Amino acid sequence: MKIVVLPGDGIGPETMAVAVDVLQAADARFDLGLRLEHDVAGHESLKRHGATVTPALLEKVRQADGLMLGPMATYDFKDESRGEINPSKFFRKCLDLHANIRPARTYPGMQARLGEFDLVVVRENTEGFYADRNIESGSSEMLITPDVVVSLRRITRPCCERIARSAFELAMTRRKHVTIVHKANVLKLGDGMFIDVCREVGREFPEVGIDEVIVDAMMAHVVRAPQRYDVIVTTNMFGDILSDLTAELSGSLGLGGSLNAGRDHAMGQAAHGSAPDIAGRNVANPISLILSAAMLLNWHGQRKGLPRYAEAAAAIEAVIAQTIQAGECTRDVGGTLGTREAGQAFVRRLAALRG
Ligand code: ATP
Repeated sequence: MKIVVLPGDGIGPETMAVAVDVLQAADARFDLGLRLEHDVAGHESLKRHGATVTPALLEKVRQADGLMLGPMATYDFKDESRGEINPSKFFRKCLDLHANIRPARTYPGMQARLGEFDLVVVRENTEGFYADRNIESGSSEMLITPDVVVSLRRITRPCCERIARSAFELAMTRRKHVTIVHKANVLKLGDGMFIDVCREVGREFPEVGIDEVIVDAMMAHVVRAPQRYDVIVTTNMFGDILSDLTAELSGSLGLGGSLNAGRDHAMGQAAHGSAPDIAGRNVANPISLILSAAMLLNWHGQRKGLPRYAEAAAAIEAVIAQTIQAGECTRDVGGTLGTREAGQAFVRRLAALRG
């Protein structure tokens, strides 16, 4: 499996270094035949190539089996004509990565203020309110006069259908329940269509239970009783916000893994951003990227029918739980270790699975 690795900005280089060590340890243990190709995106690429991402990099990623994208300083990238392209949007759009899968769960050994839970947010990734990806060229956010902005939201039947299918297929591998989160009381046409299509797709999965919750009420419900939820499917922006909340409810934003998956490509990417407030201080939690790497291995294994990739992903997830329980983790999740030291503990435990 060839994986392109792009460390990114802020805490990206520190956390990606750990994720790479973990991938290499998993490779040694499970004989995965990984080939990691290191390159740059974000500020480093802007400095070297005059753009945060380049056509040559996209081609390299297209030829690979997967991409690990570090967090990007998206907020700094304002002007595409100066090469300041949002790398996250670039790969999601160019590779048509329609499903953003964001699990959130509690772990033994960590204080679970809301009780234990294990859920996954399945977020549509290619349209919705995201002005940089829902029209072919340009932006769908317009300055009409200096005091008037119009932002367009695109919802299409095919995108609703494929995200619904991803959610129901995932639910079949879990506790067989899907919650549709929407705002159809106000966005009657767009979210009305989203719900209708989710229901239609749901009829193909009669074993999967369905409920529907309005997004604002969902914020209260998920804080009150996150264990009620299994798979949650929603449109782009609601999913973006909800999944940060669920990651933080699980103990830390630094636990939030995230896979962007399409038909032919997938990209592991932490749920959090570049966290400039803690960058370069060896305190960032690497688990988010490690979990995302495990999700990428699992995706590849399923696609190619290679069970050892799923075994490697399961082992990485088990080691995440072990390190948290043993307190061998960063401060945000109750440990005392730095990013590097948490990574070393992780690799030690993964290697100890040998024999
Ligand atoms: P960006 O502009 O790139 O989105 P941000 O700081 O606005 O960066 P996040 O990076 O998502 O947004 O960070 C939100 C908060 O969560 C910050 O206080 C940050 O320090 C914390 N945080 C994010 N990621 C981690 C991590 N891996 N480990 C520990 N804390 C984290």
